[in-house]
Amino acid sequence: MASQVMPTYARLPVMFERGEGAWLWDKQDRRYLDAIAGIAVCGLGHAHPAVFAAVAEQAGKLIHTSNLYRIEKQEELAQELCRLSGMDNAFFCNSGAEANEAAIKIARRYGHYLGIDQPAIIVTEGAFHGRTLATLSATGSRKVQEGFEPLVGGFIRVPYDDVRAIEAVADKNVAAVWVEPIQGEGGVRVPAEDYLLHLRRVCDQRNWLLMLDEVQTGVGRTGKFLAFQHTFIRPDVVTLAKALGNGVPIGACLALGTAAEMLTAGQHGSTFGGNPLACSAALAVIKTLAREAIIERVPALGEQILEGFRSNLEGQPHVLDIRGKGLMIGIELDQPCGDLVKLALERGILINVTADRVIRLLPPLILTDDQARLLVKELSKLIIGYFKITA
Ligand SMILES: *Cc1c(COP(=O)(O)O)cnc(C)c1O
Repeated sequence: MASQVMPTYARLPVMFERGEGAWLWDKQDRRYLDAIAGIAVCGLGHAHPAVFAAVAEQAGKLIHTSNLYRIEKQEELAQELCRLSGMDNAFFCNSGAEANEAAIKIARRYGHYLGIDQPAIIVTEGAFHGRTLATLSATGSRKVQEGFEPLVGGFIRVPYDDVRAIEAVADKNVAAVWVEPIQGEGGVRVPAEDYLLHLRRVCDQRNWLLMLDEVQTGVGRTGKFLAFQHTFIRPDVVTLAKALGNGVPIGACLALGTAAEMLTAGQHGSTFGGNPLACSAALAVIKTLAREAIIERVPALGEQILEGFRSNLEGQPHVLDIRGKGLMIGIELDQPCGDLVKLALERGILINVTADRVIRLLPPLILTDDQARLLVKELSKLIIGYFKITA
């Protein structure tokens, strides 16, 4: 039967019925190793008992009241996020794009506060910030923008991982610089280790906000709670979503200092944002990450996977680069490889291809060592076999 869902996704021919940890089962009871985790969402894996218990308990008490009232779980979550990040306050919403809309509004308010009439935000080539009109305008991909003109103005684009290009922007209207610590959709692009440090210096010199989109890199993905914590800097604004609720929709925009004072009563809002149900899920995620020391294990596990792929695939024709940080891993090939996703699915492994030719792996943070070995072995075999067929 044809689906009546609007065809905004080229979906794979599989429907999942249940999951446990890094495993998923389809309707025919076939098992799949999930190396994409709902696109970096289910960091604690599927059907995590702590998330289940928190959501069930909260749903039995209150799902929603309204931001017209104080919400205990929201205040608790804001406190936890600020403690973990060193930021000052949090705005809650329901997705990454919405968290980014809040960031854009903060940057514009900040620009006006500085006396700039038409504030601009510096963004990068290859960036992905979401699918709403403002966030797709900030996104550095023609494919995302095509056909949706007129785009929202006020964005100045520079190459990624290029501090000089930002220093060369002479535009007096700039109020903020906005990047991902590692580009996700853009192809798991890992910038120079001192990129954020230099951005912080440039922003401090010019009184610009430094804003980070950690929607994909956040909540433990790269081996720290937030990716900027691999450095000693703090951004003025950082956005989170994906893994924050382990699948229960929630986004957050955290702000520091002056940026934290830019939005006041009546200037921004969200009906569902930060409701008791979503915040309970996020609190359960944060508590579980700490209690089970899950993020602490991510760097070694990521290294194990990277080393495995390097020893199996380095020097193979068509394999250009194997890179990543923590459990955000990319294998770049010299040609488009989208059909690998379906071949992997047939072999019971869920992977993703982004930027046309980068195999992207975002497994749950609770992936076991055995599952990591299985992933490396099966995917390496598949990539090598793929080129024997297509050659
Ligand atoms: C996924 C993603 C977004 C968009 O998040 P949605 O929840 O789909 O709106 C924004 N920025 C980055 C870096 C992302 O990976």
